[in-house]
Amino acid sequence: MQKSSLTNAKGHGNINMREARIVLDQQMLEEMHGHAISTYPEECCGLMFGSFSGNGGEKKVLRLRRMKNTFEPKERYHRYTIDPKEFLNAEKEADERGDEIIGVYHSHPNAPAKPSEFDRGHAWPTLSYVVIEVRERKALETKSWVLKEDRSEFVPEELQIAINKK
Ligand SMILES: [Zn+2]
Repeated sequence: MQKSSLTNAKGHGNINMREARIVLDQQMLEEMHGHAISTYPEECCGLMFGSFSGNGGEKKVLRLRRMKNTFEPKERYHRYTIDPKEFLNAEKEADERGDEIIGVYHSHPNAPAKPSEFDRGHAWPTLSYVVIEVRERKALETKSWVLKEDRSEFVPEELQIAINKK
């Protein structure tokens, strides 16, 4: 994934970290958990589409898309990567629909819901990174993180679960 491909998130700079928040439905959370359990003990990964509001501090997830973890098979238990072409395709589709990629979710089999150094090295500021801890095929803690503008570290953001519409 090249940083230059991240056209959608441009114009949302200078996020106020204190207001950082991501909102998603219970159903979406369950969908992410289902994905994470299905790929266990390998990491799953996917994209979150939606909108940025205000200064970009709050994001609303409208849609998810499962992506393939294309990292080397032996290392998928603690690494993931999304094919750059697939990422670009997803970005184009989002453009056509009028929403944008607002974040990436992935699972941590047998590890805490905290981004790794590898994750930090491959993340972009602005996007939300939702990490799901999975143990014994059960989704445990789910947390969302945002990378600081200087990429020095991830800071937690509020993950707000909206009430099911159904
Ligand atoms: Zn990770």
